[in-house]
Amino acid sequence: MSDYFKAFPDNKGLYGEFGGSYIPPELQKEMDKITDAYYSISKSHQFISELRNIRKHFQGRPTPVYFAKRLSDEYGGRIYLKREDLNHTGAHKLNHCMGEALLANYMGKKKLIAETGAGQHGVALATAAAYFGLECEIHMGEVDIVKEHPNVVRMQILGAKVVPVSHGLRTLKEAVDSAFQAYLKDPITALYCIGSVVGPHPFPMMVRDFQRVVGVEAREQFYEMTGEMPDNVVACVGGGSNAMGIFSAFLDESDCTLYGVEPLGLSAKKGEHAATLTYGKPGVIHGFRCYLLQDENGEPAPVYSIASGLDYPGVGPEHSMFRDQKRVEYVSISDDECLDAFFALSKKEGIIPALESAHAVAFAFKLAQEKLRQSILVNLSGRGDKDIDFVVEKYGLR
Ligand SMILES: *Cc1c(COP(=O)(O)O)cnc(C)c1O
Repeated sequence: MSDYFKAFPDNKGLYGEFGGSYIPPELQKEMDKITDAYYSISKSHQFISELRNIRKHFQGRPTPVYFAKRLSDEYGGRIYLKREDLNHTGAHKLNHCMGEALLANYMGKKKLIAETGAGQHGVALATAAAYFGLECEIHMGEVDIVKEHPNVVRMQILGAKVVPVSHGLRTLKEAVDSAFQAYLKDPITALYCIGSVVGPHPFPMMVRDFQRVVGVEAREQFYEMTGEMPDNVVACVGGGSNAMGIFSAFLDESDCTLYGVEPLGLSAKKGEHAATLTYGKPGVIHGFRCYLLQDENGEPAPVYSIASGLDYPGVGPEHSMFRDQKRVEYVSISDDECLDAFFALSKKEGIIPALESAHAVAFAFKLAQEKLRQSILVNLSGRGDKDIDFVVEKYGLR
């Protein structure tokens, strides 16, 4: 296992042909500084023990693994949920935000800058900034600001400045562009904190490393509960951070099938989904190379998903490599299947999932019906409180 993480990424930040760093020289200088700081600081005992302490006493880790008995009875299989929805702020994102903010603190930075889609990363980063007494500036598309209103208010209560982004589709991709621009103006006092395993090196590696705690815990907990390794591990993939977190602990288990679930949205038509690894081609976005949904000119294509946190035209470089290696199987789930799973998990188990996470749950239901005797470990990346008004107003109750 340690061999894999030593080999990937290589010293250029590459995962095979993916990843790397496609950015202007002045930004590259800053990225190199962050890389150096990360390599030295993150290995120090002080950093590690401080992060461990934060995870336990502030975040509420370890989060449990839960056997979903009523769903398993209904669909077959044995469905287990890694409860990242119970992490403080309600999603896995705090795992990397606390890590990034702790790094910023050690580097003497005063301000954190980031984008957000569903608002989960913004809330998590605003939380981390408040914890460390740092300033925080969050860029968010105007469409998402309307859709994820409660998270906007949460960020503001936590003391962050929310910057509305009004160009293009006014969602996640434009928010990343805008946050990058703001960071370029102020790279000395600020640290850019990306929200997933995307962006130029070292971000995909840093975010993955901070998310590995999910897999480490889940593996131990699952083994303690069952005496075995899971037959299948399932996670939704937007940029791919919660999936990398849980997959990282099972990469060496050749009997364990890993599934990454992308959003199929309304249909397989261009512009109506964000299933990057299914329909994309290699290209460059936001300073790194990955599978990318592209228009005729090779520019990032418009994308759509019911789940704001999944509608990104690119995907993490490590997932792009796993796709080509076939180490992970990438599948997709439609808005409609996602909504069914959202209500099924709520009604059968008393857990309202995030719309993002409901994609993974929906795929687990399909798998359970196919693989009746097997175990399925799902990363329940977040809770659905942020989505309830949107779902009921737009789709009604099911
Ligand atoms: C942001 C988010 C995702 C998607 O991000 P990944 O980097 O792909 O994990 C998934 N689930 C929830 C709850 C989120 O907030």
